Order: sequence, then C-alpha cells, then structure tokens
Amino acid sequence: MRSAGKTLTELWAQVRACRRCQEEGFIPRAAPVFSPVFPTRWMLIGQAPGTVEESVGLPFSGRAGSSLFRWLAEAGWPETEFRQTVHMAALTRCFPGKNPSGKGDRAPSAAELALCRPYLEQELEWLEPKHVILVGTMTTVTFWPKETLVSAVGRILATQSTDWICLPHPSGTSRWLNRPLHREKLRQALAHIRELRGARD
Ligand code: SF4
Repeated sequence: MRSAGKTLTELWAQVRACRRCQEEGFIPRAAPVFSPVFPTRWMLIGQAPGTVEESVGLPFSGRAGSSLFRWLAEAGWPETEFRQTVHMAALTRCFPGKNPSGKGDRAPSAAELALCRPYLEQELEWLEPKHVILVGTMTTVTFWPKETLVSAVGRILATQSTDWICLPHPSGTSRWLNRPLHREKLRQALAHIRELRGARD
C-alpha cells in the first residue's frame, strides 16, 4: 500500500505542472501557488493567489497576507511557525488576473473552480486535517453553502472529523470590519484558532 506522503508528493508535482486553465484559455499563464506541508493537523484554504503571490510563489505573501498574519499573531501564531506547520492551499492555485472593472483581482470563474477542485478534494482526503481555516466568502460558501460570512465567522463549524474556522478575506475586510459585531466575530474566530491549536487531538 502506498503512503499518503508519497501519494501527496505525486499530487503536488501534478499541481505544479498543471496548465489546465491556461490550455482552456481562462488565464494567460498558469503558475500554481500553494505551500505543501505534510504531515499536518492544519490546513488553510484561500480563494486564489494574487500578483505578489504569483511572483513570490508563496500563498498570502502580499498585502492581504500582512493582515492575515497580523491576525494570526494575535491568536499567538507567528507567521514563520504557521507557514512551517499549516498546509496552505486555495480554491484555485493560479492568479486569475485583474478584474476587468479595474477594481482588484478577478474572482475565479465556476469553470476554473471546477478544474482545480479535485486537487483540493484529494488533499483533504489524504492530509485528513483536523482543523481547516477558510479565508473569505467564496471559500466559506464553497464548503458551507448554507452559511454566509457573517453567520460563519466566530463559530466552529464541525464535521465528523474536522473543525472548520472561517475568516473574512483580509484584502476585502476594511468595510466589513467597520461594524463592531464583525470585529467581535473576528476576535472570536481568532480565539477559536488559539484554543484549537492548544488542544490535544
Ligand atoms: S488554477 Fe488549478 S486547475 Fe487551473 S491551471 Fe492552476 S492549478 Fe491547474
């Protein structure tokens, strides 16, 4: 029987070489970004990389990442340690490009999401994370379609084997966090991360 580590190593090589969205004409250049860690109890799933992430080759290495890691530091989890212990993936692994409106990055299309989803499903199956952090609305409703960001942030959404914690997307939070209720929800979510990280499995 093959080990999960070997199987994952092969999967990650496939992801690195993946050019599906480029071949379909959805993006001009495929350059998959993710940060593999195995074994791990934790996984983080974002929406898609941005330009900085694409050039650096690391998830959350741009401005949004600065906010995310500031939050995680508040939860007692320094960036270096987080990157070493958490498998960081995304709904789609390649930069989708700028939004045609000129405002920010384009969200991945349904077709791109469908092409990339099998990689995520295989990682979830083989990594068997006990805790998953979902970042942003699109990521939250992909896994929890009956939730909204407001309903999900601040709670632990539990399935049989996994605890799911939702965070707002750090690049789109400035107005979301204007509301005291939302700031309190973020505080609760970070407290849950601190508590789950300290808990024994
Ligand atoms: S977004 Fe995913 S499916 Fe599309 S080219 Fe990149 S790795 Fe492949």
